[in-house]
Amino acid sequence: MPKLVVAMTGGIGSGKTTVSEIFASLGIPVIDADRIVSDLLASLPIRQLIRRHLGRGCLDRQGLINRGFLRQTIMADPSRRKRLEGILHPRVWQSIENGIKKSDAPYCLVVVPLLFETGQQHRFDRTLIIDAPDYLRIRRLRHRPGWNLQHIRTMLSLQVSRRLRLSLAQDRIENHGTRKQLQDQVEKLDRFYRQLAAAKDVQDSFGVSSRAS
Ligand code: ATP
Repeated sequence: MPKLVVAMTGGIGSGKTTVSEIFASLGIPVIDADRIVSDLLASLPIRQLIRRHLGRGCLDRQGLINRGFLRQTIMADPSRRKRLEGILHPRVWQSIENGIKKSDAPYCLVVVPLLFETGQQHRFDRTLIIDAPDYLRIRRLRHRPGWNLQHIRTMLSLQVSRRLRLSLAQDRIENHGTRKQLQDQVEKLDRFYRQLAAAKDVQDSFGVSSRAS
């Protein structure tokens, strides 16, 4: 089990996927909450639960999740959003815990896009934010098929502000430059996290402290 577990977050289009690919290329295990949600939404028992609690409109004719409908319905109705979160969140955290326990790297990275929105930062040893100015994120996201300005603005409105996120995270990667600059920052942080993990190892061997879970 890793000595250090780092939560990575950031607004939509800030570069979380890009950064996590760089960490993975350095041999660091990456657990992605969004991917876990996708896997859950594909599973039959979860689809049945969603149908029971949120209505059959959430599924298409093949019985698969109608993502566009689901997204719209939870944006329009907070009580439905709560119901969906009640189904997904406990399973997502369980899966994250299992993923962490399975890993034997010095540290691991957990990508949690809504970390501060869900108030779950206390679960982690450190928090890392990927930051980019709003105008740049919007410009990058507009290249995605089907993402118009209105959709992007609605997604942005569901997330905490950039300023609040910056004030809450311990570590930061600035993603408003080149990919080379991004790579350099990740490599520097990787060295830092390895040092922190090694220091925890020493503490543990003297019985000073250990991971809480
Ligand atoms: P989401 O929140 O929607 O999952 P994300 O935070 O994972 O997004 P990415 O998918 O990594 O963000 O990046 C958004 C887009 O910006 C992608 O098309 C990516 O290739 C591009 N991008 C990210 N960083 C850079 C960079 N430094 N230079 C140029 N393009 C970049």
